[in-house]
Amino acid sequence: MAEFVLGIDLGTSNSVAAAERPDGPEVLVDAEKRGPQPSIVSFHPSGSVLVGHEAKRRRLIDAENTIYSAKRLIGRPFSSPEVQKIAKQMPYPMVGGDNDQTIIEVRDQRLTVPEVSAFVLHHMKVIAERTLRQTVNKAVITVPANFNDAQRNATLAAGEIAGLDVLRIINEPTAAALAYGHGKKMDRKVLVYDFGGGTFDVTILEIHGEVFEVLATAGDTYLGGDDFDVLIMDRMVAQFLEQTRYDARQDGAAMERLRSVAEQVKCQLSGQGRSVVQVQELAYGPDGAALNLDFVLQRDDFEKLAEGLVDRTFAICDEAFKLAQIPINVVDEVALVGGSTRIPLVRESVRSYFARAPLATINPDEVVALGAAIQGASLLAAVAPPPSLPTASAPQTTLQGRGMPAIPPAPGETRPPPPPKPRPLLLDVTPMSLGVAIVGGYAKVIIPRNAQVPAEQMEVFSPGADGQTSVSFRICQGESQRFEENTELGELILAGLRPAARGEVKIEVTFEIDTNGVLKVHAKDETTGRMQDATIKLRGELGASEMSDAFERIGPGGGA
Ligand code: AMP
Repeated sequence: MAEFVLGIDLGTSNSVAAAERPDGPEVLVDAEKRGPQPSIVSFHPSGSVLVGHEAKRRRLIDAENTIYSAKRLIGRPFSSPEVQKIAKQMPYPMVGGDNDQTIIEVRDQRLTVPEVSAFVLHHMKVIAERTLRQTVNKAVITVPANFNDAQRNATLAAGEIAGLDVLRIINEPTAAALAYGHGKKMDRKVLVYDFGGGTFDVTILEIHGEVFEVLATAGDTYLGGDDFDVLIMDRMVAQFLEQTRYDARQDGAAMERLRSVAEQVKCQLSGQGRSVVQVQELAYGPDGAALNLDFVLQRDDFEKLAEGLVDRTFAICDEAFKLAQIPINVVDEVALVGGSTRIPLVRESVRSYFARAPLATINPDEVVALGAAIQGASLLAAVAPPPSLPTASAPQTTLQGRGMPAIPPAPGETRPPPPPKPRPLLLDVTPMSLGVAIVGGYAKVIIPRNAQVPAEQMEVFSPGADGQTSVSFRICQGESQRFEENTELGELILAGLRPAARGEVKIEVTFEIDTNGVLKVHAKDETTGRMQDATIKLRGELGASEMSDAFERIGPGGGA
């Protein structure tokens, strides 16, 4: 039986799984034929865990125990400004755990963010297994191009917790380019404009046949479809306050309903010029009377609200062109990816910024998962033994050619196996500079932004005191010269050093960013040549015991 590798687009709002079938990559659908599944996990009072569409329904009535947008939190320490900001907006409670982990408290459980994402990944695995009628344990998971090391590690951890062997983490825009360009013998520069639920990414690639080389990538992990929803929601809250004197911001359940209605309004305005909604019994007045919201939004008004967010995407495109050192007019194609590219204002703005009609031949919701599936099949082919050769004795003469029907083999006849499909080669880059803290509060760049991965760089470190046997350095990712203005990843710890006078021991530390975009280090004593203990202690990372335990404790939920 053929083995499959799942391509999973683990999205902020929705997740999609795909697999490469003999006829090409295909999105795997649930029993109701739905591909995208809401990335939502709800903890039911009965103890069961609902994932996907069922969880989305629960969100309206049990917001405190229904977790969504976990991708905005993944790989971020609890004390980070981003988590602190989200914690104020989300109806589910969050606290800081060991090592500054972000812990979500639902019912009587404490969950880490990778555990929440593991429920989503497991749900996708169950759907895939149902469609493919076999167990699937391997996956390629996509992440936003500008996810940092901690976010990639946390995504890998989520895959592991869900029982998946994650063969590779690939960047969403690169996966999309693969879906567009694989097998097409292209020779073009393609820009992928990826505007999803929570993140915006832009990647410029050069595609030569099966070589997909990223020239530059830039993005914002805090710019997505959710932000449009918030703008509409704010309008609704203001209007409701004016009409009823009821402040919905104090009411978590009302806010959840408004968030959901705001998203509907936004999606409606992609297809029509005006959206009219009534939200019944949004709240109750002091006399117990139901308070309804009647809300009308014209597309023009929405566009005025949304303009600022859309403009931000082009500032990021400008940044990508600067990094790639190419002018805008050398781009041959612009590919749209992500649900937010359905917004007419986004499409129009893309068309006018790039002065060309964007490509949208593949469903923007599915293109990333399809690309991941192509990469998965290619990784599998790279390790699978070649098909055994046939024992045919006589050379074959076949009349196959363009338009000629395939001639079935005669009984007992064997044919050479079909030539292997060309395998794509992805040459991606690291989205952020990797640095270490140096004196004066500065960061020294070790591996610069946009370096092709895998990337490797060696640095020599020396303990600062006599007899010192261990030394640690703070490491970060980001572009600021000031360490504190970057994202601190954690600490690099060199231990078991040979005690010697200050300056005598020199440790060569090799930093490597692998093809997953994940940081690895190894260290060697320059004089003795002995390998040294070098570990990276990431802020907010899971301990090994936590990885295995909580998911099993609660049990994976949600059928397909
Ligand atoms: P993704 O992360 O690619 O699944 O994109 C999800 C985002 O796309 C969410 O914010 C959705 O509200 C948004 N979205 C999906 N369909 C539409 C639509 N027709 N119009 C506007 N936004 C949409």
